Amino acid sequence: MNTPSCKTSPVIPIVPSADKSPLAPPPGADAKTMALYAAHQKIYPRSTEGFFTRWRWVLVFLTQLAFYGLPWLEWGQRQMVLFDLAARRFYIFKLVLYPQDFIYLTGILVISALSLFLFTAVAGRLWCGYACPQTVYTEIFLWLEKLTEGDRSARLRLDAAPWTMEKIGRKAAKNFLWLAVALWTGLTFVGYFSPIRELGGDFIQRHLSGWQAFWIFFYGFATYGAAGYMREQVCKHMCPYARFQSAMFDKDTLVVTYDAERGEPRGTRAKKADLALLNLGACISCNLCVQVCPTGIDIRNGLQYECIGCGACADACDAVMDKVGYARGLVKYSTENALKHKWTRAQTWRHVLRPRVLIYSAILISIVVAMAVSLALRVPLKVDVVRDRGALARMAPGGQIENVYRLQIMNATESGQRFRIRVEGLPGVAVVSDSEVTIDSTQSRWVPVRVQVPYTAAVAGSHTIHFEISNQDNSDKVVEKSVFLVPR
Ligand code: SF4
Ligand code: SF4
Repeated sequence: MNTPSCKTSPVIPIVPSADKSPLAPPPGADAKTMALYAAHQKIYPRSTEGFFTRWRWVLVFLTQLAFYGLPWLEWGQRQMVLFDLAARRFYIFKLVLYPQDFIYLTGILVISALSLFLFTAVAGRLWCGYACPQTVYTEIFLWLEKLTEGDRSARLRLDAAPWTMEKIGRKAAKNFLWLAVALWTGLTFVGYFSPIRELGGDFIQRHLSGWQAFWIFFYGFATYGAAGYMREQVCKHMCPYARFQSAMFDKDTLVVTYDAERGEPRGTRAKKADLALLNLGACISCNLCVQVCPTGIDIRNGLQYECIGCGACADACDAVMDKVGYARGLVKYSTENALKHKWTRAQTWRHVLRPRVLIYSAILISIVVAMAVSLALRVPLKVDVVRDRGALARMAPGGQIENVYRLQIMNATESGQRFRIRVEGLPGVAVVSDSEVTIDSTQSRWVPVRVQVPYTAAVAGSHTIHFEISNQDNSDKVVEKSVFLVPR
């Protein structure tokens, strides 16, 4: 993997000095200059068309349709997807999850990590190039930039030109559109945590709470800065994934590659020139692959950590190959082994589906199935039994021994429910306090429960008993274990 080249940069003069620092040149030597800092150069990506560009836009459309659209959909009387942190309720379609369902969040994180490993092992930075929010928003912001300032060459000219009314107008229009998208994105993000219809009204009437206003503007500002100005710098310097992805690559990973054997020696030539006579490869040195690259690298220098695998250079090069009448695929998704052994597409794919990929897939499918089954069988009733530590056991009238418990019953459905409490495990054991309790939708309640056993029913010591809590039609039932103490 190559390191980024050192571009034009400010220089720090190293002048002879009397001190003995390592930077001081030897006595009598000329002053020299040495670049210690590579200044950022703005990248002006040219727009592309082609197979991979179309797929990128399909992903932009689908991800943003889901992101912007989901919070506006309703499920019954409530928002379809809402993470109500204050009430500690997470509504996802028909499901209502609670902090006790943390295991599902863990499951989602494990699935996300495994998916990333799998996609990376198959096709490198597929996530970065097509679905990462940084890529998606940069693509949207670039489209707005093209709309207001034109494509690459027009933008280069505009930035080099002195400030005129036209330039101010174009820049203002671009920033206005960027800010509108960024604010809408911030509002949508907060709309996942606070009902979005009320939030929209509060936003217009300027009645937002402090945290709502903070997160809308913070998220909006982060989107504006990251997609409008920082762009490839986020991928190159801030995202940790670019750094550890190489650990998941091997020689059978599909990556965007330049076929150097076919392309070199590169050089310009007349359209009908005989390559054999000129001793030239297929690369016509048009530089279009560099101009379309959102991270500003030259794929002909080999795999570089800045490459996000977006395929824009492959689309650009294919269009060039079409124009000059050469075969497509000088820049393409391929593997190191496929290029080395000149494998066909079918052979390449056979090697891509290697043991590592199959193991990741098998684990991933197992976890997804296990989570789906667990969610499908999930009982929307949760019960915790706590013994009353203040009164371990006492003699009650009628020759009974009594233990007291506290049951936390949570009704995880979205309608009020009446629950029955029963107990079993000892001869004659019974609930002598209220054995029915009503609990509102998505609420939980602590219920004190007194349990009695005839004095002669058990010897002294602790005995296992089971509480059974069920709704009226017995469709939801939970059994919880506890102990009943019989004093000496
Ligand atoms: S677009 Fe293709 S032909 Fe043009 S410089 Fe890049 S690799 Fe060479
Ligand atoms: S080198 Fe090609 S695939 Fe990599 S980031 Fe640049 S345009 Fe995208």
